[in-house]
Amino acid sequence: MIDYDKRRDALLESLDTDAFLIFNLEGSDSVSMFYLTGFTGEGALLLSAKEAFLMTDSRYTEQASREVPGLPVKEIKGDYLKEVTTILKARKLKRVAVSSKRMTYYVVEKLRELFGEEIIAFEDPVMALRRLKDPEEIARIREATRLTEASLTSLLGEIKIGVSERELALRLEVIMRKNGAEKIAFDLIVAAGENSALPHYQPGERTLRQGDLLLFDIGAQLDGYCSDMTRVFAVKEVLSQAREIYELVLRANQAGIKAIRAGASGVAVDTIARDVIAQAGHKEHFGHGLGHGVGLEVHEGPRLSPLSKDTLQPGMTVTVEPGVYLPGFGGVRIEDLLIVTKNGSEVLTSLPKDRLIEVG
Ligand code: ZN
Ligand code: ZN
Repeated sequence: MIDYDKRRDALLESLDTDAFLIFNLEGSDSVSMFYLTGFTGEGALLLSAKEAFLMTDSRYTEQASREVPGLPVKEIKGDYLKEVTTILKARKLKRVAVSSKRMTYYVVEKLRELFGEEIIAFEDPVMALRRLKDPEEIARIREATRLTEASLTSLLGEIKIGVSERELALRLEVIMRKNGAEKIAFDLIVAAGENSALPHYQPGERTLRQGDLLLFDIGAQLDGYCSDMTRVFAVKEVLSQAREIYELVLRANQAGIKAIRAGASGVAVDTIARDVIAQAGHKEHFGHGLGHGVGLEVHEGPRLSPLSKDTLQPGMTVTVEPGVYLPGFGGVRIEDLLIVTKNGSEVLTSLPKDRLIEVG
């Protein structure tokens, strides 16, 4: 069971304001709403020392009574901004916090105009809490990872020369949904041959050919929580250049994983893995950060990168995903998902990666 009261108390404690306000309209902040209440519909949430108060409209009132039976709900009948402001005024609130990363400029401007008191923008106070996962969250992320791995394993038998990236991506999505995923955690990346050199490729009509690298960067969402992992295979035949970069990326991945522990900085872990690649002469072929947190969103804090300001703590999730991308040839990325522990980490991903496996 998730203790939403505890989350809401921790949030208010981190702020020096009278209240915190969320608007989740058209999905603008579904993540904070879900994290703080378990409600999946649209609406607004007001948190103060006295109360947690949900405002939604007739499309979601029945849903709210099922999902958050303990929360008082007010039905908004007209304009959200006007009615929410009336509620703020009625409570004589003077200083109300919002998240600048989650609220549009339009909403903040309107609120300031209608409210007349202080609206104070913090960057993303809910994200700051979400970095540390509780046991229930870890269980869900573990299960989403298990589902993703089982789905990829069942797809492997269907990989053949002539099949397109798009067919494989669609087929994998179907398998994930059949295995119980709510949805895919992000647009699945299936990239063959030279396309695997594009880190955020969208699968297309390219069909598999002998000797191709075949990259899967995939994740499922389960009970709100995401998984994220990357594995690379060789179609029918392992070319020597493919093996070479695979073994290099694997060494960087292993060095990164070894460096994960409470107290390590995001910069330090990134540097350890990046140096392995740089020393092999491929510095310019690894442009992105080493990793990121995974939870309600597939990319969240902490970050492992040259620009990171984060220090790892027990209970954080983090990916380790070095890559080497050779334009015109292909790329290799090996991505594992880990939980930071006091003295190291627990690696949630378990699909084999110790050598470049042939498929097809
Ligand atoms: Zn990924
Ligand atoms: Zn990732």
